[in-house]
Amino acid sequence: MTAPVTMQIPGFHGDVITPHHDGYDEARAIWNGTVDRHPRLIARCSGTADVAAAVRFARDRDLEIAVRGGGHNVAGTAVCDDGIVIDLSAMRAVTVDPAERTALVQGGALWGDVDHETQVHGLATTGGIVSHTGVGGLSLGGGIGWLMRKHGLAVDNLVEASLVTADADIIRASANDHPDLFWALRGGGGNFGIVSSFRFRLHPVGPTVMAGPVFWAAEDTTDVLRFYREFVTDVPDELGNVVRLGTIPPWPAVSEKLHFRPAIAVASCYAGPVEDGERAVRALREFGTPLVDLVQPTLYVDHQSSIDDTVPHGWHYYWKSTNLVDLSDEAIAVIADHAYAASSPRSCVVMFHFGGSVADRAPRDATAYAGRDVAHNIVIEGIWLPDESGERAAAETAWARRFLEALQPHRGGGVYVNFLDSDDDSSRVREAYGEDTYRRLAEVKAKYDPENVFHINKNIQPRTPVAI
Ligand SMILES: Cc1cc2nc3c(=O)[nH]c(=O)nc-3n(C[C@H](O)[C@H](O)[C@H](O)COP(=O)(O)OP(=O)(O)OC[C@H]3O[C@@H](n4cnc5c(N)ncnc54)[C@H](O)[C@@H]3O)c2cc1C
Repeated sequence: MTAPVTMQIPGFHGDVITPHHDGYDEARAIWNGTVDRHPRLIARCSGTADVAAAVRFARDRDLEIAVRGGGHNVAGTAVCDDGIVIDLSAMRAVTVDPAERTALVQGGALWGDVDHETQVHGLATTGGIVSHTGVGGLSLGGGIGWLMRKHGLAVDNLVEASLVTADADIIRASANDHPDLFWALRGGGGNFGIVSSFRFRLHPVGPTVMAGPVFWAAEDTTDVLRFYREFVTDVPDELGNVVRLGTIPPWPAVSEKLHFRPAIAVASCYAGPVEDGERAVRALREFGTPLVDLVQPTLYVDHQSSIDDTVPHGWHYYWKSTNLVDLSDEAIAVIADHAYAASSPRSCVVMFHFGGSVADRAPRDATAYAGRDVAHNIVIEGIWLPDESGERAAAETAWARRFLEALQPHRGGGVYVNFLDSDDDSSRVREAYGEDTYRRLAEVKAKYDPENVFHINKNIQPRTPVAI
């Protein structure tokens, strides 16, 4: 039995939710419905002062701390058993300075909040491709999305962050303030403190962009991927591309007879004038015999939420991911063999294409993001419904593991840290960063969080540099 904790947090103005409250189960639920953790209390902060008060409270009582941004991480690190969840979900304000082209974004905001406020001014910054993903976790891991080839990663657009340290101090990290910490925050995840606000650089985007997916039959996968491999070598940086293999979602814009039909899609978004976008995607749309072509002039803000309903909160998810050396014929053969072998019609595979500003924007050691040389990565997403049987869960988990195993000869350059799943992926954090970046992160960790207070995350173990 653990000793009861006094549930008054001194100096805290937000909500404290414990197992005795009616809203407890809702408050501890996160995006991945397989995660079922029972914190002793959830401190839903109203601002930075609350975050500091919650850290102080937790440290005084030696409570484990989990930090919740958007609650989207597949591994479920936003919640913990028995400890305290420092919950930023009520801190979602976004304030745009259109003259300076920056946005001040609170640590619990979702990408939909950012797009909503920035697009009023015809501005945007690189964010995730699902609007209910959190800015916090996504940005601190690097931040990939439709705009990255043109405007860099989310971390490349980060101007400064205000954070609460493990000692409950409130500090600012930027190129001039704590530059070592600023380096680590741009890729090193939630290891260094709790970010109460981010300031991002914005760029003119849209509001209308040429965007959407083209679907081909699953039988065409090999041909489509071979074409795609060549197509992306020569596209402008404005064009972001994501491949999705699975079944066609039951969207109203798609004929009912195609719903849940196995298919490969290439989805695009052109961050520039619509006419230029039309030209950039023409060859793709003309390739082979598409089942359905949904590429059209679209509001950027709508495109950003167009696949939200394929990955809703509360469904069950299990992911495996890796960077790929390249899309060789052999790698394509493995992908075509495994992509449609899942038993759930909701499971899918997603592949991001990088290059452009991701590779060019910053020197390799300028941020802790370690994947600048990667051309393609792959995320194998086992997805099933909460009321489906344990057999389904076992089948989807086995499928994802088998698929990753088959890709072994084609894996290269690590994995994106934000796509790592739970326990069986925890040993892959070093793989995500590579030895040099990991060592540097471990030294910054030793300076700012030597006791590893923030360890419920993709953890970097603190390491004091050895004096020579
Ligand atoms: C459906 C879906 C789509 C996705 N698409 C993309 C994509 O397009 N691009 C991409 O880059 N990633 C994408 N991801 C991965 C995403 O980056 C991670 O899941 C990320 O952790 C989500 O952040 P969050 O704040 O919602 O998560 P949470 O689960 O709330 O947080 C994850 C971890 O981040 C840390 N953290 C969160 N907020 C803060 C904060 N304010 N201060 C300090 N630490 C914090 C904590 O350590 C926490 O444990 C996607 C994930 C999902 C589930």
